[in-house]
Amino acid sequence: MFVPHEVTEKSSLGNKQRLFMWCIGKLITYAYTNDWALTAGDFSRMDRRGHMEGSCHYSRLAADVNVFADFGDGHWEYLDSYEEAINVWDSLGKFWKELHPLCRWGGDFAGRDLNHFSITIWGKS
Ligand SMILES: [Zn+2]
Repeated sequence: MFVPHEVTEKSSLGNKQRLFMWCIGKLITYAYTNDWALTAGDFSRMDRRGHMEGSCHYSRLAADVNVFADFGDGHWEYLDSYEEAINVWDSLGKFWKELHPLCRWGGDFAGRDLNHFSITIWGKS
């Protein structure tokens, strides 16, 4: 049985990858429970393209998630800026970081990468 809190900084890459997907499952459930909806952006990029050198996307430890809010009548609004949806982004980021000590949220990065959710490895997020 997978036990998330047994995964630490020193755990294997495989165990961190399994932790990552466990966390993603929780994040998806949390988002839909709050009446938001998601689509998948970049997750694993084993071609090692499109992200910074050493990116967690190249280690199957990061996901870019597109977030939508329900504006009624089947209209979903894509939330791409922090300013127009501060509560949504802060809520998702806070939830993610509380899932596990290794969770990092791109909203905390200097370049603010709101839709980036990752598990840290080798000091990268
Ligand atoms: Zn990313």
